[in-house]
Amino acid sequence: MSILVTGGAGYIGSHATQRLLRDGHTVVVLDNLFRGHRGAIDRLAGQHGVGDRLRFIVGDAGDRDLIANLIVEHRVEAVMHFAALAYVGESVDHPLLYYRNNAGGTLGLLEGLALASDRGRHVDQFVFSSTCATYGQPAPEFVPIPESCPQSPINPYGWSKLHGERMLLDFADSMTRRSRPFALAALRYFNVAGCDRSGVLGEDHTPETHLIPAAIQSVMGTREHFGARGGLSIFGTDYPTPDGTCVRDYVHVEDLIDAHVCVLKALRPGDRRFYNLGIGRGYSVREVIDSVRRVSGKSLDVSEGPRRAGDPPTLFARPDRIRAELGWKASITSIDEIVGSAWNWYQRNPRGYR
Ligand code: UDP
Repeated sequence: MSILVTGGAGYIGSHATQRLLRDGHTVVVLDNLFRGHRGAIDRLAGQHGVGDRLRFIVGDAGDRDLIANLIVEHRVEAVMHFAALAYVGESVDHPLLYYRNNAGGTLGLLEGLALASDRGRHVDQFVFSSTCATYGQPAPEFVPIPESCPQSPINPYGWSKLHGERMLLDFADSMTRRSRPFALAALRYFNVAGCDRSGVLGEDHTPETHLIPAAIQSVMGTREHFGARGGLSIFGTDYPTPDGTCVRDYVHVEDLIDAHVCVLKALRPGDRRFYNLGIGRGYSVREVIDSVRRVSGKSLDVSEGPRRAGDPPTLFARPDRIRAELGWKASITSIDEIVGSAWNWYQRNPRGYR
């Protein structure tokens, strides 16, 4: 198949591109390199047997004319839409940036699909990167979180993704009414973590705010290189959780991409599928930090700081629906294995892609 991957130079999108190339597809990567890395594309292009099956275009996912043109030119059949900003804290400080990039980006992308469809190249499969942040802070009876949990975001990041889901549903319905079948899946990620175990691709964010890479960079003394100052701080120790720190569901990036591949294979015209992607159990911030200490065999000093705006205390998935319908479940559930894959990548790439 010819698949458009938006955000394919970023963390999750690059791992998706690698898997799709390995599965024999042609991948058109669109990335504006705002937070993505040309280095990731170079590594993907250098892999055995890729040849001209990888095409890379620098541009915005929300540029409807660019999208329409590249869909026609590259005969795109399916879209995986990863391009987005994804920091909860940043979204609280800069909400409009998030609405423009995430909601606006999805809007422009769908306009591009509509234009291409009018020109005779109708894309009928769409997989959207959504998030558990669309659930906000679930009521206790919805933890672990099923897809039926009411969606009520508590930060602009979650809202920007929920708007994306809504636009996609309405777009899919309008296409169907015009006898242009459209299948969509919105995959609500929990905390995506870890790195490609073949050592080619990793997680390289500046600024790095995510717990696992930040803790690893702290152990390695490289945090400044990734745009962070000072040591590692635990954001809040007074949450109503067993050890007072936030609990999250960390799902390995390769398992997450495997779910995308299962979903794409299963999509049939008219489908509207919504799945939670997580391992189904939570780890606290302290448990993750202990894992980084175990995996690295090194000491890690942490301070205890105030809560971060927009953080709910406990989020972990009930990933039963995708297991029942498609047979997918996470193969990696040990936090040490997840942390270990990231640790290995940073050992080989202490400065990320640079
Ligand atoms: N966290 C922390 N210190 C850090 C980074 C993150 O205590 O330097 C906490 C954060 O408050 C959250 C959890 O670790 O409870 C996971 O945060 P991360 O930013 O990795 O992912 P998010 O849950 O925001 O998607």
